[in-house]
Amino acid sequence: MNSLKLRPHHALCAQFFEGKGYSEAFVAHMYGILSELDRGTSVTLVDGCDAICAGCPNMQNGACETDEKVRSIDRRAIEAMGVRFGDTLPWRDLSALAKDRIIAAEKLSDVCRDCEWIDICEGKRG
Ligand code: SF4
Ligand code: SF4
Repeated sequence: MNSLKLRPHHALCAQFFEGKGYSEAFVAHMYGILSELDRGTSVTLVDGCDAICAGCPNMQNGACETDEKVRSIDRRAIEAMGVRFGDTLPWRDLSALAKDRIIAAEKLSDVCRDCEWIDICEGKRG
């Protein structure tokens, strides 16, 4: 079965997305990815740009414009979830790890530090 490429910190972004984003096209792309995840797809964790980045105006020549920042968030997220780059697992399992080991464990502010959207995501955490 095909799996969807996902960078680790996007397991968190997917929990909080509420239609705000870098462009209208990106928001539409994000909703498309979220419905694919909801349909029970598997995901493969990648160390770099993924299926979500593919629709983002900040991706240039295959890399994120804020590569260093997002890679740091990825590293903190993957470590906290206890998974590894290259792992393939059902989205519902990765989503549960993100919820249990980062959000419920009150690590979101630390994992996502430096992200411009942190106040929105922290506000929705409850
Ligand atoms: S704070 Fe940023 S990186 Fe973290 S979940 Fe929200 S949008 Fe994603
Ligand atoms: S900002 Fe960077 S990491 Fe986030 S979706 Fe866009 S290209 Fe990907």
